[in-house]
Amino acid sequence: MSSNSKKILILAGDGIGPEVMGEVKRTLGWFEKRRGSGFETEDGLVGGCSFDKHGVPLTDETMQKAIDADAVLLGAVGGPKWDNLPFKDKPERGLLRLRKDMELFANLRPALVFDALAEASSLKTELVKGLDIMIVRELTGGVYFGSPRGIETLPNGERRGINTQVYTTSEIQRVARVAFELARKRGNKLCSVEKANVMESGVLWREEVQKLGDTEYKDVQLSHMYADNCAMQLVRQPKQFDVIVTDNLFGDLLSDCAAMLTGSLGMLPSASLGAADKGGKRKALYEPVHGSAPDIAGQGKANPLACLLSLSMMLRYSFDQGEDADLLEKAANNVVAKGFRTGDIMAPGCTLVGTKEMGDEILKELDRLAA
Ligand code: NAD
Repeated sequence: MSSNSKKILILAGDGIGPEVMGEVKRTLGWFEKRRGSGFETEDGLVGGCSFDKHGVPLTDETMQKAIDADAVLLGAVGGPKWDNLPFKDKPERGLLRLRKDMELFANLRPALVFDALAEASSLKTELVKGLDIMIVRELTGGVYFGSPRGIETLPNGERRGINTQVYTTSEIQRVARVAFELARKRGNKLCSVEKANVMESGVLWREEVQKLGDTEYKDVQLSHMYADNCAMQLVRQPKQFDVIVTDNLFGDLLSDCAAMLTGSLGMLPSASLGAADKGGKRKALYEPVHGSAPDIAGQGKANPLACLLSLSMMLRYSFDQGEDADLLEKAANNVVAKGFRTGDIMAPGCTLVGTKEMGDEILKELDRLAA
Protein backbone atom coordinates (compact mmCIF):
# COMPACT_ATOMS: atom_id res chain seq x y z
CA MET A 1 0.00 0.00 0.00
CA SER A 2 1.40 3.41 -0.91
CA SER A 3 1.81 5.77 2.05
CA ASN A 4 -0.86 8.18 0.82
CA SER A 5 -3.53 5.63 -0.08
CA LYS A 6 -6.56 5.70 2.19
CA LYS A 7 -7.54 2.30 3.44
CA ILE A 8 -11.29 1.96 4.05
CA LEU A 9 -12.97 -1.13 5.49
CA ILE A 10 -16.60 -1.39 4.39
CA LEU A 11 -18.93 -3.37 6.66
CA ALA A 12 -22.37 -3.18 5.08
CA GLY A 13 -24.04 -5.48 7.63
CA ASP A 14 -27.66 -6.62 7.55
CA GLY A 15 -31.12 -5.52 6.32
CA ILE A 16 -30.96 -2.22 4.46
CA GLY A 17 -27.22 -1.95 5.29
CA PRO A 18 -26.03 -3.42 1.97
CA GLU A 19 -28.65 -1.40 0.04
CA VAL A 20 -27.58 2.00 1.40
CA MET A 21 -23.91 1.01 1.31
CA GLY A 22 -24.30 0.22 -2.41
CA GLU A 23 -24.95 3.92 -3.01
CA VAL A 24 -21.99 4.86 -0.80
CA LYS A 25 -19.73 2.64 -2.90
CA ARG A 26 -20.94 4.26 -6.13
CA THR A 27 -20.28 7.68 -4.61
CA LEU A 28 -16.83 6.61 -3.41
CA GLY A 29 -16.21 5.54 -7.01
CA TRP A 30 -17.20 9.03 -8.17
CA PHE A 31 -14.70 10.68 -5.82
CA GLU A 32 -12.06 8.19 -6.86
CA LYS A 33 -12.60 8.86 -10.55
CA ARG A 34 -13.30 12.58 -10.48
CA ARG A 35 -11.14 13.75 -7.58
CA GLY A 36 -8.41 11.09 -7.50
CA SER A 37 -9.05 10.49 -3.81
CA GLY A 38 -6.75 7.45 -3.58
CA PHE A 39 -9.16 5.18 -1.74
CA GLU A 40 -8.40 1.51 -1.25
CA THR A 41 -11.55 -0.33 -0.14
CA GLU A 42 -12.15 -3.79 1.23
CA ASP A 43 -15.43 -5.45 2.21
CA GLY A 44 -16.04 -7.39 5.42
CA LEU A 45 -18.89 -8.93 7.38
CA VAL A 46 -20.42 -7.78 10.66
CA GLY A 47 -23.65 -8.66 12.45
CA GLY A 48 -26.10 -11.37 11.44
CA CYS A 49 -24.44 -11.99 8.07
CA SER A 50 -21.15 -12.72 9.84
CA PHE A 51 -22.89 -15.03 12.31
CA ASP A 52 -24.48 -16.95 9.40
CA LYS A 53 -21.12 -17.44 7.69
CA HIS A 54 -18.65 -17.70 10.58
CA GLY A 55 -20.75 -18.40 13.69
CA VAL A 56 -19.72 -15.09 15.32
CA PRO A 57 -20.99 -11.52 14.76
CA LEU A 58 -17.42 -10.33 14.09
CA THR A 59 -14.36 -12.47 13.41
CA ASP A 60 -10.93 -11.68 14.92
CA GLU A 61 -9.64 -11.24 11.39
CA THR A 62 -12.23 -8.58 10.52
CA MET A 63 -11.61 -6.89 13.88
CA GLN A 64 -7.92 -6.65 13.04
CA LYS A 65 -8.71 -5.22 9.60
CA ALA A 66 -10.85 -2.55 11.27
CA ILE A 67 -7.97 -1.65 13.59
CA ASP A 68 -5.56 -1.46 10.65
CA ALA A 69 -7.86 0.60 8.40
CA ASP A 70 -7.71 4.39 8.13
CA ALA A 71 -11.51 4.45 8.43
CA VAL A 72 -14.39 1.99 8.77
CA LEU A 73 -17.74 2.58 7.07
CA LEU A 74 -20.63 0.61 8.57
CA GLY A 75 -24.21 0.13 7.32
CA ALA A 76 -26.44 -1.42 10.00
CA VAL A 77 -26.73 -4.69 11.87
CA GLY A 78 -29.54 -6.85 13.22
CA GLY A 79 -32.91 -8.23 12.27
CA PRO A 80 -35.62 -10.65 13.45
CA LYS A 81 -33.73 -13.67 12.08
CA TRP A 82 -31.12 -13.27 14.83
CA ASP A 83 -33.31 -11.90 17.66
CA ASN A 84 -33.31 -15.15 19.63
CA LEU A 85 -29.59 -15.85 19.58
CA PRO A 86 -27.74 -15.87 22.91
CA PHE A 87 -26.50 -12.41 23.95
CA LYS A 88 -22.87 -13.07 22.90
CA ASP A 89 -23.88 -14.02 19.34
CA LYS A 90 -26.31 -11.18 18.69
CA PRO A 91 -25.48 -8.96 15.68
CA GLU A 92 -25.17 -5.88 17.93
CA ARG A 93 -22.27 -7.55 19.77
CA GLY A 94 -20.23 -7.20 16.57
CA LEU A 95 -20.80 -3.46 16.57
CA LEU A 96 -20.05 -3.15 20.29
CA ARG A 97 -16.81 -5.07 19.85
CA LEU A 98 -15.75 -2.76 17.03
CA ARG A 99 -16.36 0.30 19.23
CA LYS A 100 -14.61 -1.27 22.22
CA ASP A 101 -11.55 -2.75 20.51
CA MET A 102 -11.00 0.37 18.40
CA GLU A 103 -11.35 2.40 21.65
CA LEU A 104 -13.77 4.85 20.07
CA PHE A 105 -14.43 7.22 22.94
CA ALA A 106 -15.92 10.20 21.10
CA ASN A 107 -19.27 9.87 19.35
CA LEU A 108 -20.08 12.72 16.96
CA ARG A 109 -23.76 13.20 16.23
CA PRO A 110 -24.54 16.15 13.97
CA ALA A 111 -28.08 17.51 13.88
CA LEU A 112 -28.35 19.29 10.59
CA VAL A 113 -31.61 20.42 9.05
CA PHE A 114 -31.88 20.59 5.27
CA ASP A 115 -33.89 23.70 4.37
CA ALA A 116 -36.28 21.67 2.25
CA LEU A 117 -37.02 19.35 5.19
CA ALA A 118 -37.41 22.00 7.90
CA GLU A 119 -41.16 21.49 7.84
CA ALA A 120 -40.77 17.79 8.73
CA SER A 121 -39.48 18.76 12.18
CA SER A 122 -41.84 18.64 15.13
CA LEU A 123 -40.68 22.16 16.00
CA LYS A 124 -41.70 25.38 14.23
CA THR A 125 -39.89 25.82 10.91
CA GLU A 126 -38.22 29.10 11.93
CA LEU A 127 -36.67 27.42 14.99
CA VAL A 128 -34.95 24.67 12.97
CA LYS A 129 -34.34 26.14 9.51
CA GLY A 130 -30.57 26.32 9.02
CA LEU A 131 -29.92 24.32 12.21
CA ASP A 132 -26.41 22.84 12.32
CA ILE A 133 -25.24 21.57 15.69
CA MET A 134 -22.81 18.85 16.69
CA ILE A 135 -23.15 16.78 19.83
CA VAL A 136 -20.00 15.06 21.06
CA ARG A 137 -20.90 12.23 23.43
CA GLU A 138 -18.34 10.39 25.55
CA LEU A 139 -18.82 6.76 24.55
CA THR A 140 -16.66 4.42 26.60
CA GLY A 141 -16.96 5.65 30.20
CA GLY A 142 -19.46 6.94 32.72
CA VAL A 143 -22.44 5.23 34.28
CA TYR A 144 -22.82 2.57 31.55
CA PHE A 145 -19.42 1.10 32.43
CA GLY A 146 -18.68 2.18 36.03
CA SER A 147 -18.45 -0.24 38.92
CA PRO A 148 -19.80 -1.28 41.33
CA ARG A 149 -22.84 -2.24 39.33
CA GLY A 150 -25.51 -4.91 39.65
CA ILE A 151 -28.67 -5.85 41.50
CA GLU A 152 -28.36 -7.04 45.10
CA THR A 153 -30.76 -8.25 47.76
CA LEU A 154 -30.60 -6.37 51.04
CA PRO A 155 -30.89 -8.05 54.48
CA ASN A 156 -34.50 -6.86 54.74
CA GLY A 157 -35.34 -8.66 51.47
CA GLU A 158 -35.58 -5.47 49.42
CA ARG A 159 -33.63 -5.43 46.15
CA ARG A 160 -31.26 -2.63 45.15
CA GLY A 161 -30.00 -1.74 41.65
CA ILE A 162 -26.60 -0.04 41.44
CA ASN A 163 -24.71 1.80 38.71
CA THR A 164 -21.78 4.11 39.21
CA GLN A 165 -21.06 7.32 37.36
CA VAL A 166 -17.30 7.64 37.16
CA TYR A 167 -14.90 9.74 35.08
CA THR A 168 -11.16 10.37 35.31
CA THR A 169 -9.44 13.58 34.24
CA SER A 170 -7.87 11.92 31.19
CA GLU A 171 -11.24 10.53 30.04
CA ILE A 172 -12.77 14.00 30.29
CA GLN A 173 -9.84 15.76 28.68
CA ARG A 174 -9.57 13.51 25.64
CA VAL A 175 -13.23 13.86 24.64
CA ALA A 176 -13.20 17.59 25.43
CA ARG A 177 -10.17 18.02 23.16
CA VAL A 178 -12.08 16.40 20.27
CA ALA A 179 -14.94 18.83 20.91
CA PHE A 180 -12.69 21.91 21.15
CA GLU A 181 -10.96 20.94 17.89
CA LEU A 182 -14.34 20.51 16.18
CA ALA A 183 -15.53 23.87 17.47
CA ARG A 184 -12.46 25.48 15.93
CA LYS A 185 -13.41 24.05 12.54
CA ARG A 186 -17.04 25.20 12.90
CA GLY A 187 -18.54 28.20 14.74
CA ASN A 188 -15.86 28.31 17.48
CA LYS A 189 -18.42 27.82 20.27
CA LEU A 190 -18.42 24.93 22.76
CA CYS A 191 -21.03 24.22 25.41
CA SER A 192 -20.03 21.62 28.02
CA VAL A 193 -22.96 19.84 29.66
CA GLU A 194 -23.16 18.00 33.03
CA LYS A 195 -24.98 18.26 36.33
CA ALA A 196 -22.30 19.85 38.49
CA ASN A 197 -25.08 21.12 40.78
CA VAL A 198 -25.81 17.62 42.09
CA MET A 199 -22.99 15.28 40.93
CA GLU A 200 -19.31 15.29 41.91
CA SER A 201 -18.38 13.71 38.57
CA GLY A 202 -20.10 16.74 37.01
CA VAL A 203 -18.00 19.12 39.13
CA LEU A 204 -14.84 17.39 37.93
CA TRP A 205 -16.10 17.43 34.33
CA ARG A 206 -16.74 21.18 34.48
CA GLU A 207 -13.37 21.94 36.11
CA GLU A 208 -11.38 19.86 33.63
CA VAL A 209 -13.12 21.28 30.55
CA GLN A 210 -12.67 24.84 31.88
CA LYS A 211 -8.97 24.15 32.55
CA LEU A 212 -8.46 23.05 28.94
CA GLY A 213 -10.35 26.09 27.72
CA ASP A 214 -8.15 28.40 29.82
CA THR A 215 -4.88 26.81 28.72
CA GLU A 216 -5.08 25.23 25.26
CA TYR A 217 -8.25 26.63 23.67
CA LYS A 218 -8.49 30.28 24.75
CA ASP A 219 -9.75 31.16 21.25
CA VAL A 220 -12.87 28.94 21.61
CA GLN A 221 -15.91 30.49 23.28
CA LEU A 222 -16.65 28.05 26.13
CA SER A 223 -19.85 27.87 28.18
CA HIS A 224 -21.28 25.35 30.66
CA MET A 225 -24.86 24.19 31.08
CA TYR A 226 -26.72 21.73 33.30
CA ALA A 227 -28.06 18.77 31.35
CA ASP A 228 -31.72 19.38 32.25
CA ASN A 229 -31.47 22.97 31.05
CA CYS A 230 -29.71 21.80 27.88
CA ALA A 231 -32.64 19.47 27.10
CA MET A 232 -35.01 22.44 27.45
CA GLN A 233 -32.81 24.75 25.39
CA LEU A 234 -32.52 22.18 22.59
CA VAL A 235 -36.27 22.30 22.01
CA ARG A 236 -36.65 26.01 22.88
CA GLN A 237 -33.86 27.65 20.86
CA PRO A 238 -31.66 24.94 19.28
CA LYS A 239 -29.76 27.36 17.05
CA GLN A 240 -27.98 28.88 20.10
CA PHE A 241 -25.64 25.85 20.04
CA ASP A 242 -22.63 25.04 17.88
CA VAL A 243 -20.78 22.12 19.52
CA ILE A 244 -22.01 20.41 22.70
CA VAL A 245 -19.77 18.03 24.67
CA THR A 246 -21.24 15.78 27.30
CA ASP A 247 -20.93 12.41 29.04
CA ASN A 248 -22.20 9.01 27.95
CA LEU A 249 -25.60 9.07 29.66
CA PHE A 250 -26.57 12.70 28.98
CA GLY A 251 -25.16 12.39 25.46
CA ASP A 252 -27.33 9.35 24.79
CA LEU A 253 -30.47 11.34 25.59
CA LEU A 254 -29.49 14.75 24.23
CA SER A 255 -28.20 13.43 20.89
CA ASP A 256 -31.46 11.56 20.25
CA CYS A 257 -33.43 14.63 21.22
CA ALA A 258 -31.38 16.85 18.88
CA ALA A 259 -31.59 14.26 16.11
CA MET A 260 -35.35 14.35 16.09
CA LEU A 261 -35.30 18.08 15.44
CA THR A 262 -34.23 17.13 11.94
CA GLY A 263 -37.30 15.06 11.06
CA SER A 264 -36.06 11.64 9.89
CA LEU A 265 -33.82 8.79 10.97
CA GLY A 266 -32.95 8.25 7.30
CA MET A 267 -31.01 11.54 7.27
CA LEU A 268 -28.77 11.14 10.33
CA PRO A 269 -25.06 10.28 10.10
CA SER A 270 -22.60 9.68 12.93
CA ALA A 271 -18.90 9.22 13.56
CA SER A 272 -17.05 7.57 16.42
CA LEU A 273 -13.42 8.55 16.94
CA GLY A 274 -10.55 7.12 18.98
CA ALA A 275 -7.25 8.51 20.20
CA ALA A 276 -4.90 10.23 17.77
CA ASP A 277 -1.67 8.40 16.92
CA LYS A 278 1.72 10.13 16.62
CA GLY A 279 0.85 11.41 13.15
CA GLY A 280 -2.44 12.86 14.43
CA LYS A 281 -4.54 10.14 12.79
CA ARG A 282 -7.53 8.81 14.75
CA LYS A 283 -9.22 5.43 14.53
CA ALA A 284 -12.67 6.12 13.15
CA LEU A 285 -15.98 4.42 12.44
CA TYR A 286 -18.68 6.12 10.38
CA GLU A 287 -22.26 4.87 10.35
CA PRO A 288 -25.82 6.07 9.93
CA VAL A 289 -27.82 6.42 13.16
CA HIS A 290 -30.64 4.21 11.86
CA GLY A 291 -30.79 0.42 12.19
CA SER A 292 -31.30 -2.32 9.63
CA ALA A 293 -34.99 -1.43 9.05
CA PRO A 294 -36.22 -5.03 8.54
CA ASP A 295 -39.69 -3.71 7.62
CA ILE A 296 -38.38 -2.28 4.33
CA ALA A 297 -35.22 -4.36 3.78
CA GLY A 298 -34.73 -5.87 0.32
CA GLN A 299 -37.33 -3.59 -1.26
CA GLY A 300 -35.04 -0.85 -2.59
CA LYS A 301 -36.92 1.76 -0.55
CA ALA A 302 -34.32 2.78 2.04
CA ASN A 303 -33.05 6.33 2.21
CA PRO A 304 -29.28 6.21 1.53
CA LEU A 305 -28.67 9.82 2.65
CA ALA A 306 -27.74 9.03 6.29
CA CYS A 307 -25.09 6.62 5.05
CA LEU A 308 -23.93 9.08 2.36
CA LEU A 309 -23.67 11.85 4.96
CA SER A 310 -21.60 9.45 7.09
CA LEU A 311 -19.29 9.14 4.08
CA SER A 312 -19.10 12.92 4.00
CA MET A 313 -18.07 12.92 7.70
CA MET A 314 -15.35 10.39 6.81
CA LEU A 315 -14.03 12.67 4.06
CA ARG A 316 -13.97 15.61 6.47
CA TYR A 317 -12.66 14.05 9.67
CA SER A 318 -10.47 11.14 8.57
CA PHE A 319 -9.05 12.45 5.32
CA ASP A 320 -9.19 16.23 5.66
CA GLN A 321 -11.13 16.45 2.38
CA GLY A 322 -13.35 19.28 3.61
CA GLU A 323 -14.10 20.54 0.12
CA ASP A 324 -15.23 17.11 -1.05
CA ALA A 325 -17.38 16.74 2.08
CA ASP A 326 -18.97 20.14 1.35
CA LEU A 327 -19.61 19.04 -2.22
CA LEU A 328 -21.38 15.85 -1.16
CA GLU A 329 -23.47 17.66 1.45
CA LYS A 330 -24.41 20.30 -1.11
CA ALA A 331 -25.41 17.58 -3.57
CA ALA A 332 -27.63 15.93 -0.93
CA ASN A 333 -29.19 19.30 -0.06
CA ASN A 334 -29.89 20.14 -3.70
CA VAL A 335 -31.38 16.74 -4.54
CA VAL A 336 -33.79 17.01 -1.61
CA ALA A 337 -34.55 20.64 -2.50
CA LYS A 338 -35.40 19.53 -6.05
CA GLY A 339 -38.10 17.33 -4.51
CA PHE A 340 -36.58 13.85 -4.81
CA ARG A 341 -37.67 11.91 -1.73
CA THR A 342 -37.56 8.37 -0.41
CA GLY A 343 -40.68 7.22 1.44
CA ASP A 344 -39.46 8.27 4.91
CA ILE A 345 -39.15 11.96 3.92
CA MET A 346 -41.89 12.04 1.27
CA ALA A 347 -44.06 15.17 1.15
CA PRO A 348 -46.97 16.24 -1.08
CA GLY A 349 -45.88 17.37 -4.54
CA CYS A 350 -42.47 15.65 -4.33
CA THR A 351 -41.10 12.80 -6.49
CA LEU A 352 -40.97 9.43 -4.73
CA VAL A 353 -37.71 7.59 -5.49
CA GLY A 354 -36.05 4.39 -4.28
CA THR A 355 -32.56 3.84 -2.88
CA LYS A 356 -30.86 3.50 -6.24
CA GLU A 357 -32.68 6.43 -7.87
CA MET A 358 -31.69 8.63 -4.93
CA GLY A 359 -28.07 7.50 -5.47
CA ASP A 360 -28.42 8.30 -9.21
CA GLU A 361 -29.64 11.81 -8.42
CA ILE A 362 -26.73 12.38 -6.01
CA LEU A 363 -24.22 11.33 -8.70
CA LYS A 364 -25.92 13.56 -11.28
CA GLU A 365 -25.82 16.48 -8.87
CA LEU A 366 -22.14 15.83 -8.06
CA ASP A 367 -21.42 15.89 -11.81
CA ARG A 368 -23.31 19.15 -12.13
CA LEU A 369 -21.62 20.81 -9.15
CA ALA A 370 -18.16 19.68 -10.22
CA ALA A 371 -18.59 20.68 -13.88
P1 NAD B 1 -34.51 1.08 12.57
O1 NAD B 1 -33.71 2.32 12.60
O2 NAD B 1 -33.95 -0.06 11.83
O3 NAD B 1 -35.97 1.40 11.97
C1 NAD B 1 -36.91 2.29 12.59
C2 NAD B 1 -37.92 2.80 11.54
O4 NAD B 1 -37.27 3.74 10.69
C3 NAD B 1 -38.43 1.69 10.62
O5 NAD B 1 -39.77 1.93 10.30
C4 NAD B 1 -37.57 1.82 9.38
O6 NAD B 1 -38.20 1.38 8.18
C5 NAD B 1 -37.29 3.33 9.34
N1 NAD B 1 -35.98 3.59 8.75
C6 NAD B 1 -34.75 3.43 9.35
N2 NAD B 1 -33.77 3.75 8.51
C7 NAD B 1 -34.34 4.12 7.36
C8 NAD B 1 -33.84 4.55 6.09
N3 NAD B 1 -32.53 4.68 5.85
N4 NAD B 1 -34.72 4.83 5.11
C9 NAD B 1 -36.05 4.73 5.33
N5 NAD B 1 -36.60 4.33 6.50
C10 NAD B 1 -35.75 4.03 7.50
O7 NAD B 1 -34.78 0.68 14.11
P2 NAD B 1 -35.51 -0.61 14.71
O8 NAD B 1 -36.69 -0.98 13.88
O9 NAD B 1 -35.70 -0.29 16.14
O10 NAD B 1 -34.43 -1.78 14.63
C11 NAD B 1 -34.36 -2.74 13.58
C12 NAD B 1 -33.11 -3.58 13.75
O11 NAD B 1 -31.95 -2.73 13.64
C13 NAD B 1 -32.99 -4.25 15.12
O12 NAD B 1 -32.44 -5.52 14.94
C14 NAD B 1 -32.05 -3.34 15.90
O13 NAD B 1 -31.35 -4.04 16.89
C15 NAD B 1 -31.12 -2.91 14.79
N6 NAD B 1 -30.44 -1.61 15.04
C16 NAD B 1 -29.16 -1.52 14.60
C17 NAD B 1 -28.49 -0.31 14.71
C18 NAD B 1 -27.11 -0.23 14.14
O14 NAD B 1 -26.72 -1.07 13.36
N7 NAD B 1 -26.36 0.79 14.48
C19 NAD B 1 -29.12 0.80 15.28
C20 NAD B 1 -30.44 0.67 15.71
C21 NAD B 1 -31.11 -0.53 15.58
